[in-house]
Amino acid sequence: MANIVVSGIRPTGNLHLGNYFGALKSFVRMQEENECFFFIADYHSLTTHPTPGDLHGNVKTVLVEFLACGLDPEKATLYIQSDLPETAELYLLLNMNAYIGELERCTSFKDKIRTQPQNVNAGLLTYPTLMAADIIIHKAHKVPVGKDQEQHLEMTRTFANRFNRIYNVEYFPEPVAYNFGENLVKIPGLDGSLKMSKSDNETSAIFLADAPEVIRKKIMRAVTDTGQPDPSKPRSQGVENLFSLMRYFSDAFTLETFKSAYATGQIRYGDMKKQLAEDVIRFTTPFREKMLALAADESYLSKVARMGAEKAHASAAKTVREVREIIGFKHF
Ligand code: AMP
Repeated sequence: MANIVVSGIRPTGNLHLGNYFGALKSFVRMQEENECFFFIADYHSLTTHPTPGDLHGNVKTVLVEFLACGLDPEKATLYIQSDLPETAELYLLLNMNAYIGELERCTSFKDKIRTQPQNVNAGLLTYPTLMAADIIIHKAHKVPVGKDQEQHLEMTRTFANRFNRIYNVEYFPEPVAYNFGENLVKIPGLDGSLKMSKSDNETSAIFLADAPEVIRKKIMRAVTDTGQPDPSKPRSQGVENLFSLMRYFSDAFTLETFKSAYATGQIRYGDMKKQLAEDVIRFTTPFREKMLALAADESYLSKVARMGAEKAHASAAKTVREVREIIGFKHF
């Protein structure tokens, strides 16, 4: 039997090259081998109080970008979290057995208290129960998680096991982390950082949606050495990053050409950047074109969302019905 995989996607910002190689490519492969549920976590995003306009806009951006990257609504169940109110019911039920102490001890909650003391709401405290509901509502076996989500997954196991124990059933499986194995890659930033990240600064990350002129500008400004390149010294991190990016986006001949130019001290970073920019643009252009087409096709997006909601509902409604029975709710 295929594994059931559930993954939530934050409706924030655009996908950069790091997100694509570090996560999206694996998602696209995952949908071939597993029964996948990918949802856009718009209930979760309410902890930051978005405006109604932003909320919908952010969800649409993510839906468009994930479809453009190859998530296939015929293969995976791709849905919007708030289209599945069963999640809210399971969240309520799980909260009855989630203890304030364990929620307060959660690292991400403690971080939020520190970073946004003016907005410590109950949604933040119970973020792990909502995440548990998202996962176990489909009786998931596997969850692709980054380092920052490992503790939440541990809490999901705790809540699932606790439910089984309280009601003396073996109902919820224990979800484990999906292991990407050898596919873990790290795309470096243009600012000399080891990992491309949208939060570093405006110019560190290249987004799949960036227009060609934006990509050229960002790459031309990328950090390199100052002064004359010295092949006898190890490459600076900025220069190393440009070579790493070339490995992903340029052909082998181009990479070799610039490597030997570096080795003989004749490299011109301006030329290297110009070449890299064109190679990155060649890579991102099909994604950007797909995104533009999808964003303009409201009827297709609405069909995708409806289809996802229906498939997710079929799975979730069964779980909630069975959970209600186990708990002892009975209709008169
Ligand atoms: P984030 O937007 O930082 O939460 O990242 C979403 C996903 O993209 C996570 O699975 C990250 O591991 C992955 N990711 C983010 N930045 C990079 C990067 N520079 N290289 C590889 N993977 C990344």
